[in-house]
Amino acid sequence: MAERKQIRILYMEDDPGLARLVQKKLEQAGYIVDIASDGEEGLAMYAAGSYDVVAVDQTMPVYDGLGVIHTLASQGPLPPMIMVTGTGDERTAVEAMRLGAGDYIVKDVEGGYLDLLPSVIERALRQQRLTEEKQQAEAERERLLAAEREQRLLAETLAEVTLALASQTSHEAVLDEILHQAQRIVPHSTANIALLEDDALRVVRWRGYEVYDSEEFISNLVQPLADFPLNAETVRSREPLVIHNTHQEPRWVVLEETAWIRSYLIVPICLRERVLGQLNLASDAPGEFSAEDAERLKPLAGAAAIAIENARLVEGLEAEVAARTAEIVAEREKSKAILRSVGEAIVTFDLERRIQYVNDAFTALTGYTAEEALGQRANSVMGGGMSEQAQQSLRLALAKGEVWQGEVTHRRKDGRTYDAALAIAPMRDAEGNLVGYVSSHRDISRLKDLDRARSRFIANVSHQLRTPVTTIHLYTHLLQKGRQPEKTGYYLQMVEEETARLIHLIQDILEMAALDSGQAVTAWEPVSLSTVIGNAVTRYQSRAEASGLTLVAKPLPPDLPVAKGDQARLTQALEEIVENAIIFTPAGGRVTMEVETAEDEGRLWVTIAVRDTGPGISPEEQEQVFDRFFRGSLAEPGHVPGTGLGLSIVQEIMRANGGRVTVESEVGGGSTFTLWLQSTPGG
Ligand code: ADP
Repeated sequence: MAERKQIRILYMEDDPGLARLVQKKLEQAGYIVDIASDGEEGLAMYAAGSYDVVAVDQTMPVYDGLGVIHTLASQGPLPPMIMVTGTGDERTAVEAMRLGAGDYIVKDVEGGYLDLLPSVIERALRQQRLTEEKQQAEAERERLLAAEREQRLLAETLAEVTLALASQTSHEAVLDEILHQAQRIVPHSTANIALLEDDALRVVRWRGYEVYDSEEFISNLVQPLADFPLNAETVRSREPLVIHNTHQEPRWVVLEETAWIRSYLIVPICLRERVLGQLNLASDAPGEFSAEDAERLKPLAGAAAIAIENARLVEGLEAEVAARTAEIVAEREKSKAILRSVGEAIVTFDLERRIQYVNDAFTALTGYTAEEALGQRANSVMGGGMSEQAQQSLRLALAKGEVWQGEVTHRRKDGRTYDAALAIAPMRDAEGNLVGYVSSHRDISRLKDLDRARSRFIANVSHQLRTPVTTIHLYTHLLQKGRQPEKTGYYLQMVEEETARLIHLIQDILEMAALDSGQAVTAWEPVSLSTVIGNAVTRYQSRAEASGLTLVAKPLPPDLPVAKGDQARLTQALEEIVENAIIFTPAGGRVTMEVETAEDEGRLWVTIAVRDTGPGISPEEQEQVFDRFFRGSLAEPGHVPGTGLGLSIVQEIMRANGGRVTVESEVGGGSTFTLWLQSTPGG
């Protein structure tokens, strides 16, 4: 017993004799015993000292035994208590046990209970120890359960965050899920996720701030690290930071909108060595967060890091894709613009010869719109006017994968045909497989016409040259012989006339060459229309009369604007037209010159119209009269002298003067050629 820690017993007994007896007995049993003479004293002693066991006598003044037990029970957990009652008072014993007393003992008259007392105390103590052990076990079990609950919570939380990460949801949704889960793990008032951008933290997601009316504030919050030392520290250390009490943390920066924050927890969001941002928790009460809380949040911060990194990768990828798409679109637009602007008609068709694409030039040339052409067979739209030989060489070239070039006749939508220079090339995909053909063609009708006109010209010029030269040759021969001296004057006149024809022809050819080299127009001055018209009348009046024609010039209208250009050249152009009118109008006809003004293409023009009562020009010939060397049916070689250069010279002169020449005519209804001159108002 001596080795054991001594047990202290408080015994409340108002009978001093009995008390001393009990004390003696228990001290003999190895206990330390203090006696209280009544309940009140006993309660005071109990409060002052530390007792392992309390025994109370039921019958005491002021506080009886039950009263003491009652009072002690109301103050806290009861020590092992033993109720001492008199015989026949078992009800008190039962009541005491109900209140929490550990045991009871009944006083017998013989005092035998004194011998029993030590073992009752021993039993109460043992019971107490058992209870304590049970409580400890209970607490341990509770602790284990709590730990398990927390583990489960963490696992659940992470599972949900992982699910969010793995699903197709946006990174904002993942960050919101992380904030949501943070609330489950570490309860708080508000939470936010801020990203580190150029030495500043920018809040990107948040929750709970609406309660504090600071949503607007948090949504715009950017914290430069230089101004927020605590945030800066976590970025540097990459370790969480707990601010237990913001009022006692000198480095805490107080902002008006978040003055309610009393404790704070910062968990850095790191990917390997890199700090991407922070997960921040705030509470309006001090001491809300612990280092353990920070540990619990670390996995969430890790998940946030992955979400943020993913988003950045995706954004980068998206930007790259967008840039690439823009490049492709620009490239395609460029190709389209090129295809639109080229003069050649371009058509692509597939292996079955079905049209897939046509450009604007195709529509302009053929009259078929893209809608009408697409999907059609190339032949049906372009009418393959191709010789058997050409078809064969085309088949051969395409079979060898070569480009074919040749001349064909195409038919327009309205049925008219045109000569075309056509090229067809195979189209291949990236792997080199044949996927279709691209054809380009242009209208060479005019070139062909020109060619024909040129041949005609050569024949004509040769004829024109031969006629005067032959005549000159003949008359000079006759002059040399001198057989008919009376005809000498006539022969000389013929020689002179033919020489003049020759000179005219050569002049026209030289004139055309000069206009072509751009040397023809030198002046840009106000043109005196009365002089120009007057000269033409003076020069052609007698010729007109000789041909039995009337040549008149109508009076100039008043307030005529000032026409501008090269007066000498414009005179030449007018005379060329007047000459034609005189040549082609039969005797008895009339040639009229009239000056007017006209508005066209938003500007003011002065026009000189030369009207004749001649045979007129057919629509087909009207299209060609300004072509070089073109001579109409009226001028069949031999009938009318000329070169077919007159009107093309007029056209070149008008172009060089910023104007133009037009023709209006009807077969049998005369012709009107009009010169259009640029003008400035007032004159
Ligand atoms: P040329 O007069 O030398 O033949 P031009 O270029 O002056 O050449 O005229 C070309 C053609 O235009 C003429 O051959 C003729 O068929 C036609 N032409 C020109 N002026 C008239 C006119 N006033 N009336 C009818 N046809 C005309």
